[in-house]
Amino acid sequence: MEAMAVPFTREDYRHRMQRAAEDAAAEGLDGLLVTPGPDLLWLTGYQPTAITERLTLLVLRGDADPELLVPRLERPDVESAAGAEALAISDWRDGSDPYESAAALLREEGAYAVSDSAWAMHLLGLQRRLPKSGYWSVTDRLPMLRAVKDANELARMESAAEAADATFREIVKVAFAGRKETDVAADLARLLHEFGHEQVDFTVVGSGPNGANPHHEAGDRTILAGDMVVLDFGGLMQGYGSDTSRTVCVGEPTSQMREVHDIVRTAQQTAFEAVRPGIACQEVDRTARRVITEAGYGDHFVHRTGHGIGMTTHEPPYMVEGEVRPTVPGMCFSIEPGIYLAGQFGVRIEDIVTVTEDGGRRLNNTDRRLVIVE
Ligand code: ZN
Ligand code: ZN
Ligand code: ZN
Repeated sequence: MEAMAVPFTREDYRHRMQRAAEDAAAEGLDGLLVTPGPDLLWLTGYQPTAITERLTLLVLRGDADPELLVPRLERPDVESAAGAEALAISDWRDGSDPYESAAALLREEGAYAVSDSAWAMHLLGLQRRLPKSGYWSVTDRLPMLRAVKDANELARMESAAEAADATFREIVKVAFAGRKETDVAADLARLLHEFGHEQVDFTVVGSGPNGANPHHEAGDRTILAGDMVVLDFGGLMQGYGSDTSRTVCVGEPTSQMREVHDIVRTAQQTAFEAVRPGIACQEVDRTARRVITEAGYGDHFVHRTGHGIGMTTHEPPYMVEGEVRPTVPGMCFSIEPGIYLAGQFGVRIEDIVTVTEDGGRRLNNTDRRLVIVE
């Protein structure tokens, strides 16, 4: 079993909050408003036991120390969180107006980026209190906030990917033919847990024609001999995400199945080889798409080539046409081209890749050739 990750330190949180506040100031913002969710957890190490209607709000500004406003009854929990010492904590009591307490930390006519996981009721409450302030999505203004991983985060990403790879090496040994997709999906979930995941987010088993629907999860269909089966699974381990896809064949594939699988594998490999620091994210997408388009299947590659991954399994940066921001060492994202032939089958091959000074490094390393299962 994998080693336990080194805990993040007070210094890690202090540094993250400082950098976020500086980034916000550089964007011309008066601050960053963060409610419970992955951003808050990343910035402070704090996550309320239950995310509720009571307002919890982190305020980060370039010109002041970080402040966390919490419900009075949750104060003891906050004070024991890892990043708490880097925070000025204030509270509000049931029966008072939390937005009035929040407004005391903000400017009358400020410009704020708000975490995407903020509940609408909280943002609307703030807007009512401070109608002259402007509010933007943090993903619009600071999309790369969590994108570059430090060494400790990368180690967790590697562990999660290794566990996903171990899951794949086991799943190809189970019976496919004659069992339902949901049975194989349950095997995937069990294996991810066995190999150390604390949370399973998705277990896609797309057999035969179901594989041609990229977001099919797993259903009642009984898997048949001769089916191609798209497997795409992942979740969180030590707080960091895994996400990998392989496509297997139940018994002998047809020549078309082999051909399509080879094209997707070449597209995935070519896009991987294109990764180096400083290229636009859209270059990764263009590279994979060029291979598939030149092979005549461009219309059947119906999604972007990849997405960032970290404390959530889908987050910026996106490997998509129009994303001109550059890749930076420490970023982690998927490369997952696919071809989907309606009514027949689909093929997708996905690895998580991290950017290094010299190029890309795959975190997933299972066989990308077509594996035959029974
Ligand atoms: Zn997806
Ligand atoms: Zn996936
Ligand atoms: Zn993915």
